[in-house]
Amino acid sequence: MPSTDPGHLVYGFDIPAERPWSRVLKRGQTLRIIDSEGEQAVDALIYAAADTAERYSAQDTLRVQGSAYLELGTRLISNRGRVMARITADTCGRHDTSAGCCSCESNAVRFGEATRYLHACRENFILELSRHGLTKRDIVSNLNFFMNVPIEPTGNFTVLDGPSSPGNYVDVTAEMDLLFVISNCPQVNNPCNGFDPTPIRVEIRETAAA
Ligand SMILES: [Zn+2]
Repeated sequence: MPSTDPGHLVYGFDIPAERPWSRVLKRGQTLRIIDSEGEQAVDALIYAAADTAERYSAQDTLRVQGSAYLELGTRLISNRGRVMARITADTCGRHDTSAGCCSCESNAVRFGEATRYLHACRENFILELSRHGLTKRDIVSNLNFFMNVPIEPTGNFTVLDGPSSPGNYVDVTAEMDLLFVISNCPQVNNPCNGFDPTPIRVEIRETAAA
């Protein structure tokens, strides 16, 4: 259930399976990420549009939050301790920010050398960041929307089946102008995408006052 009025639609786009996307989200605008077909992990990086040296920090977000997961009301904190955005609606209930993103290297370690050639989120991020003058050096901790990664008391975690149903969405409302970068995760070796990556939809809304 939305906790705030996300406003009227100003942008909508269907991101194909396995592809990256990016856009500047203005302060006050709300990005709705919709898991169109369900059970699809959405990896994301967030930078301050005015100065990309300021970017999302999973460590600071978890510390301030006192919770192992991203959920309704979570403040997304930057490496400079500022609130970049808030999660203002969530119909899924489980989002991760601990497990990182898939890469050719991690695929080879986890799933065998034969999987090294497979496309991965890290490659998506490098491609999309290059459109904004950023490089792989700028890939830091990321968000994993709709990804189910229970954290055990020991600190161990495992990527489990995606918990989202078709049409589930999460709203992220910007508290500053943001560069929002998404990799629609192409992983096929663990169950985060149901072993079958599918399209997602992104929509941007704003209220009249925004
Ligand atoms: Zn991935």
